[in-house]
Amino acid sequence: MAPTAFVNALPVSRPANIVGSSSFVSARSTTVRSRNARVQPRMSLEQYADELISTASKIASPGKGILAVDESTKTIGKRLASIGVENTEANRQAYRGLLFNCQGLGEYISGAILFEETLYQNSIEGKPFVDCLKDIGIIPGIKVDKGLSPLGNAESFETWCTGLDGLGERAAAYYKQGARFAKWRAVLQISDKTPSKVSLLENTWGLARYARTVQNAGLVPIIEPEILMDGDHPISRTAEVQEEVLAHVYKACDTNGVLLEGSLLKPNMVVPGSDYKGTTSPEEIGAMTVRTLERRVPSAVPGIMFLSGGMSEEEASINLSAMNTIERKGPWSLSFSYGRALQQSCLKSWMGKPENVPAAQQALMARARANSLANLGKYTKGSEPSLDALGTFEKGYKY
Ligand code: 13P
Repeated sequence: MAPTAFVNALPVSRPANIVGSSSFVSARSTTVRSRNARVQPRMSLEQYADELISTASKIASPGKGILAVDESTKTIGKRLASIGVENTEANRQAYRGLLFNCQGLGEYISGAILFEETLYQNSIEGKPFVDCLKDIGIIPGIKVDKGLSPLGNAESFETWCTGLDGLGERAAAYYKQGARFAKWRAVLQISDKTPSKVSLLENTWGLARYARTVQNAGLVPIIEPEILMDGDHPISRTAEVQEEVLAHVYKACDTNGVLLEGSLLKPNMVVPGSDYKGTTSPEEIGAMTVRTLERRVPSAVPGIMFLSGGMSEEEASINLSAMNTIERKGPWSLSFSYGRALQQSCLKSWMGKPENVPAAQQALMARARANSLANLGKYTKGSEPSLDALGTFEKGYKY
């Protein structure tokens, strides 16, 4: 089917269902008349459909995944502190510059998710970071959510994800600056009583509203419903919750008319809680993850790009490789969108010293290569170096 035919088959305009959605615009119109009769340009999913489909499939192409470097200024501060480097704009620029000037990285990495500061920043040499990325074959992306906030009528640790106000306008500006995909991270947590009904509904609805809004501006949405690893539950409980969460996500995407072919999913792998006492092999993790995804993720989605969630670099590569050796019905690429599990060795090799930049770039290339092989089901444990034996899992992690 031609890409536009996909769009024509979609329920792209359902105003009756979009309660309270003043920013929602019909996919077929080009202008909107506001109350005081000013004519404003309307953005349209239909206009961008072919490009969205092409961008999503490029990102999810074989042997490739995403480098998540969208740490907020506060979070990158923690990373830099771990190597004794001060959190200044110049140091953030130096660190991100070494990542985006890593020649050859585009062989393994198709997209990089940036924080807003980075999207508009130049390298030390004065070249816009978006151009550095494009020159090594990496598509720039942007984190668009505005962080988590406490949720009413829920458990005290449950949250909702903010950032929908003005998102259409921000997304259009990010597109103009060179971004071609976006990320929105909603968080759910497992306990005896959670995720609560309100957390499930609010977080999955927010993801779908975001997805449709950025598609209207030409950005491929990465839909990230992260289920934290905190807890002592077995893998079967994670699988049960993940199935419920994903069912809600794709129901909400349908209601909002999200073009699935032009979207990507970023889930956690199905793993036991971090305090679970038993052991679980990469093969079990792979099998449970594939089973869960096959039950809930539509085949139209081109790629499922996992977060690393605090797993060590090696664990993240080994688990990804294990699931890619399983015979499956699901057609999507199972790949990576790692933050911590791609950057730990690189950071530790750099230590803020210019003379260490080549070593840091080699460390990044090693983990990128490991995960590229893992996407193809071909990574051999220990075949690439890592300085991250313990992983970075933190209870109650705030990104
Ligand atoms: P981690 O891989 O460190 O979990 O981060 C990925 C990410 O982008 C979380 O939103």
